[in-house]
Amino acid sequence: MTEKKPFEIARETLRQLTAKKLLPTPGNYQSIYNEIAGIPLIQPFPEEPLRQIAQSLPTKNPGQEKQKGLLEYAIGQRNWQGVQSALVGYAGFALPGGTPSESAPEPVAPIASVPAFTAEFMEQIARMVEYSLPALGNDDARFQEQVDKLLQTLRDPAADVIGIKTLLANFSHRLSFAAEDQAEIKNTLLKLLHLIIENIGELSVDDSWLKGQTDALMEAASPPLTLRRLDDVERRLKDVIFKQTEAKGRAMEAQEELRSMLAIFVERLSQMTESSSSFHGKMEESVALIEQAKSIEEIAPVLKEVIGATRAMANESLTVRDELQAMREKTQATEAELVKLHRELDRVSAQARHDTLTGALNRQGLDEALHREVSGMQRRDSALCVALLDIDNFKKINDERGHAAGDAALTHLATVARECMRPQDSLARYGGEEFVILLPDTPLDKGVEAMTRLQRELTRRFFLDGNEKILITFSAGVAQFEPDEAGLEAIQRADRAMYLAKRAGKNRVMAA
Ligand code: GH3
Ligand code: MG
Ligand code: MG
Repeated sequence: MTEKKPFEIARETLRQLTAKKLLPTPGNYQSIYNEIAGIPLIQPFPEEPLRQIAQSLPTKNPGQEKQKGLLEYAIGQRNWQGVQSALVGYAGFALPGGTPSESAPEPVAPIASVPAFTAEFMEQIARMVEYSLPALGNDDARFQEQVDKLLQTLRDPAADVIGIKTLLANFSHRLSFAAEDQAEIKNTLLKLLHLIIENIGELSVDDSWLKGQTDALMEAASPPLTLRRLDDVERRLKDVIFKQTEAKGRAMEAQEELRSMLAIFVERLSQMTESSSSFHGKMEESVALIEQAKSIEEIAPVLKEVIGATRAMANESLTVRDELQAMREKTQATEAELVKLHRELDRVSAQARHDTLTGALNRQGLDEALHREVSGMQRRDSALCVALLDIDNFKKINDERGHAAGDAALTHLATVARECMRPQDSLARYGGEEFVILLPDTPLDKGVEAMTRLQRELTRRFFLDGNEKILITFSAGVAQFEPDEAGLEAIQRADRAMYLAKRAGKNRVMAA
């Protein structure tokens, strides 16, 4: 074929445009020209229309938004392949639940990934079933069989879904009953525990320490229960039982001793009445004989008898007196023994871990808690804070309202502190109106925050002295334990910070 000259091609192009009744636009001219000249037609890139389309695409989720961005970029690059890939991706995100692979130009083939997904999903369900088994108890052999079958089926790649669905439905039915049972058991156990605590409290109406402890126990044994709180209940209960046993032993001993002394006394008394009434009889008889006597000879033997009876009576009285004396001495000894026992009991009570007034830990309890928390901190490599707080102007409360009001204010502070602390925190009475709070897993800034929170809580919950609302404030120092720091050192640092807080005007918290 002979090559046409450009002007010939141009003429022929115009002729065909007319013949085909096409508008003489540059695009039409170009396409016919190329056809005649045998030049491959390269379609112009419709950037503007494409951009308009891209802009009008709605974005309903982050996936679509991303794909729209990719589309605009591809348009800017005049990259048809990129346009296609972004549009396919966009369409994938338009499907309900669709999450196509992000840059895949091809539509994702979901079928291919289902078996792997299903196996993993089934394994997760199997594990969940296994984990829930301890809560169900294993008292039903038939149920155990059902569970074994369910687990086996869940882990069988060839298992059919309908079968799994039936087995799972049976299992969840049983699970719902078991969960209700467990909640009921927990509630009933709590009620029982409350009954026991109440009973212990009733037994010791005259012991204010025990009363305080049982109240604290009651509070600790209320929902929501955590293992940590149950641990606290156990410790407190041990203290209460310890003291109760001591008190009971002492009372029984004293009672036994008094009983035996009373028995001796009654016996002696009856002997005395007996001998004195026979003496009385003898005297009356002798008086009658003397009245009737006509001579001194007749009186002599009567007199002899009177003297004999009187001597016997005197001897008898002497014995009784000696015996009574011995009994008195014994009573005094018992009294002394009781005083000693009382002192011993106080000493033993001091070994208990809780303060008798506020129910907070005492020094002994604080030592144990410090030991436990410091080793926990080292083991877990975590942060431990100690706060020392001292009530502001406490002496004024005592002076103006009396010691009992001061005591009640201390108890109020301890109650509010306990309620606004986490279960794992420990509250101890460090001295008169000073308290220490241990805050495990707490860095310094959070420790300061916790104390500030307690300050705020005290402004919300006033201490009531009769009908009068009293605001209790405190100054506190907070120290975070150094890795190898001893408990007392950290408390001293907190104490110094507390002192600075007092100097700075009280009612504030300072970090050490
Ligand atoms: P500051 O703001 O500087 O701490 O002054 P304050 O009055 O709180 O401190 P101060 O140390 O002068 O007084 C503390 C008082 O606490 C003195 C003491 O009688 C009283 N106190 C200590 N233990 C008890 C207690 O168990 N019950 C009562 N009611 N008062 C107590
Ligand atoms: Mg003080
Ligand atoms: Mg004070």
